[in-house]
This record gives sequence, structure tokens and C-alpha cells, in this order.
Amino acid sequence: MSISEKPMAPEENPPGQRRSWPVFQQPRGLIVYLVLLVVAALFLIGVTVAQTAITTFDLVLFVALVLCALVCLEAIRRIGVPEGLSRDLLGAWWLPAMLLLPPLYSLLIPIPVFLLQRRKRPAILHRQVFNTASVGVSGFVASLLWHGAQAGPVAGLGGSSTAHSTLASVNGVFLALLCCAVFTLFNTGLVFLAARLSPDGGTPSMWDREAFLVDCVELCVGVTVAILAQLSLFLLVIAVPPVLLLQRSLVYQQLQTAARTDPKTGLLNAPTWEREAASQIARARESRGPAAVLIVDIDRFKRVNDTYGHLFGDQVLLGVATTISQQLRESDLLGRFGGEEFVVLLPGSDITEAWQAAERLRSQVGRMEIAVDEVPVSITISIGVAVVGDHGDDLVELLTAADLALYRAKETGRDRVCLPVGRPEVSSRIPGPRAGGIHDGGDAENRP
Ligand code: GH3
Ligand code: MG
Ligand code: MG
Repeated sequence: MSISEKPMAPEENPPGQRRSWPVFQQPRGLIVYLVLLVVAALFLIGVTVAQTAITTFDLVLFVALVLCALVCLEAIRRIGVPEGLSRDLLGAWWLPAMLLLPPLYSLLIPIPVFLLQRRKRPAILHRQVFNTASVGVSGFVASLLWHGAQAGPVAGLGGSSTAHSTLASVNGVFLALLCCAVFTLFNTGLVFLAARLSPDGGTPSMWDREAFLVDCVELCVGVTVAILAQLSLFLLVIAVPPVLLLQRSLVYQQLQTAARTDPKTGLLNAPTWEREAASQIARARESRGPAAVLIVDIDRFKRVNDTYGHLFGDQVLLGVATTISQQLRESDLLGRFGGEEFVVLLPGSDITEAWQAAERLRSQVGRMEIAVDEVPVSITISIGVAVVGDHGDDLVELLTAADLALYRAKETGRDRVCLPVGRPEVSSRIPGPRAGGIHDGGDAENRP
């Protein structure tokens, strides 16, 4: 896993202004963490260089693995790399270096990749430096463990290619898989900490089943390549095409997911939600089954941004998205519609169930507290509900009706659920504003 190299946004270096390094715009904790990791990697290189016996075989194997990694990297670069946290299969080349070469080489092997990325992509330097140091240090730890687990002269920092023999037994292969899993866990831990220290607190869907599967595939491929390379260096040639193919399909899948999701919340984006909701509503109409649409809008969100800043506003968006998704069933469809608006399709829900679901969302988000400097801030939402058959027959009609209902909810005081027509069925408000809350103070006359 790595933090991919998001191209530098224009506002990060406005034209005509003195360029300031993006790393210095990061929180102090993140800068300290990055510096410590790089210093640790350089220190380990210094210590291990002195203790490692450099052999021709090791050097040739190292160069061959680097070349394979560069070929794969070039192949992905041509397709495009999704922003944020992305997964690759470069471990297919890191892991053999970790298992077949002394630990020093695990520290060195990501450096050529770093240099190629610097040359080819205008990227944020500190992210590339972080990825390089993280892979290097994690590989070093796992390699040390692997070589340390070998009996006899191969133990210790120097290691040697005689460690090959252990990969020839079933137990050796399982031990290798275990050490490779340590690499993955260590690297994931380092990336996770960096994501926690970064201003946006990481990407919403960082850790899921898909990511776990990719890590497992990477481990298996890495150990298989190591076994091939141990048999003969020339066999690396037949390892490249399958790794390339896996890598390409992984990148395609990540790009496809990125095209469907909203990066800030990890929810479906508006076009994808609309497409999927439209087809589910059509199915509900055909089968004469019930379905409902909710539009959820955060109340006075502009004030949240103005009072606590845009980054905090983003945390609130993510918090609301998470709270809402926790309240929904697997079959419900949740998306981010626009700025601070979310949409939900509730298949199989009639007006009563939709109302109850909307009330549950309203009350759970109302209970949610996000701290700013240890002061809890609470927010509220308004929800417009529309039901298939009663308020519309297709998605456009239902969204129009739900939007009208949302407008009524705002008009009648916010923090409530409304239907499009009839008596404003206003839900009970959560009593009284709480400390630090962003509440609508100007419409007391509209409260029920
Ligand atoms: P109301 O209760 O009437 O909905 O008031 P409001 O302030 O929530 O609505 P308004 O439409 O006036 O403002 C919406 C705000 O949402 C303005 C915009 O800055 C903010 N916003 C939109 N997208 C994002 C985003 O991705 N992140 C953050 N932090 N703010 C956003
Ligand atoms: Mg709005
Ligand atoms: Mg709003």
C-alpha cells in the first residue's frame, strides 16, 4: 500500500507567488514522523552497509528485481494511478529481495522506484519520500526476521543468499509467507499512522475486504516469484507477464471504484447513485413494491465551515456519512448528492418505514459529537422524504418531491423530517442547543 502521488493542485503553488514546499504546510506531527522515518532508514542503511558482504550474485539479483519493478511501474503509469491511498503489486519484487538478499537490499530496493517516479511524475516529494522510507524500513524489519529465523551462518544483519535453501521446503515457504505478512502489516501500520496525522485523517475506505485480498495476493505472488528466482534468475522473465497482468487489472479496478465513489466520504457519487437508484425504482414500479427516497441536508453547514474551518467541515461530512451508513440496511443505497447533501434509496420501505428510518438518521446524527480543541460540536440534519407511487413514479419525480419536502423542513425550523404535501409532519426536536453546537437560533416560532 502507498499514498499515491496526487498531482500538485494549482492552489498549492499559485502562479507568481513564491513556491512553498507542501511538506511545510503539513501538521507538525506529520513532519516530525516523516523526518524520524527517513532518519531511521538512512541510519539503518549506514549500519548495514558496513556489515553486509557484497557478492556478485546478490548484486545481479538485486538489479534484476529492480528492473522488473520498474517495468511494472512504467506499465501502471501509462494507465493512470488513482489518487489517495492506492494498492499496487510492487511487493511482488520487494518480497523476493527481502527473502533472498541480505536486509540491506530491502532498504535500497524502493529507491530506484522513487527516482523513476520523481523523473516521470510531477508529484508531492514528501509523499514519495514517505512511501520509499516506509517500504524500505518495513522490508528491512521483515528481512531481519526471516534471516534471523534461519539457523547457522545466515542469521543476522549480513544475511546471505544461502538462505535460499529454506524456500525449498514447505515449512520454509510458510515461514516466508509469515515474514512477508509482517512486512505488509508493518508497512500498513506506518501508512495508517501517516494518514491519521494528515489533515484529512485518511481516506474513508482505507481498510476493507478488498484491500485485505489484494495484500494476500501480493504475499502469494511475492513468495512465488522468490521461489522462481531461487530456481534460476532467468525464471524472473516468466514471472513478469502474470504480475503485470494482475497489476493492470488491480489498477483498472481501483480506477473504476474511484470513478464511482466520492473521495471525501467514500459513498457513491451522484451520477452512480442516480443510475443505480433509477434502475431500482424502475424494478419497484414493475413489481408494485414500495420504495422511498430521502434527501438529507446538514443544517447551517456554512456556519460550521465559517466557525471551525473547511477541514473540520470535511470531518463533519465524513462523520455524517459514516453515521448514516451505520443506520442503513445492506440493501439501502446511500450517496453524496452534492456539497452537504446526501441521498438515500430505501427499497421495500413504505411511508411509515421510510419515516422511521429518516427519524433514526436525524436522531443519530443529532447525537453525534465531533470535538474541536476538546470542545464537542454537534450538528443537525433536515430530511425530505418521498415515496414511490404516493409522490412520484420515477427518480426525477421522487427527487423533486423529496427536495420540496426538504425545503419545507428548512422553512419550518430545520432538524426535522418532512413529507412533500399535507400538514407539515414535523418530528420532535432534540431539546435545547448543546455546548459548542451549530444550531439554528432564529426560527423558534416555527418549532412544534
Ligand atoms: P441550510 O441549513 O439552509 O442547508 O444552510 P447551509 O449553510 O447548510 O447551506 P448553504 O447552501 O448556505 O451552504 C452549504 C455549505 O456547504 C457551503 C459550502 O461551503 C459547504 N460545502 C459544500 N461542499 C463542501 C465540502 O466538500 N466540504 C466542506 N467543508 N464544506 C462544503
Ligand atoms: Mg444544501
Ligand atoms: Mg445545508
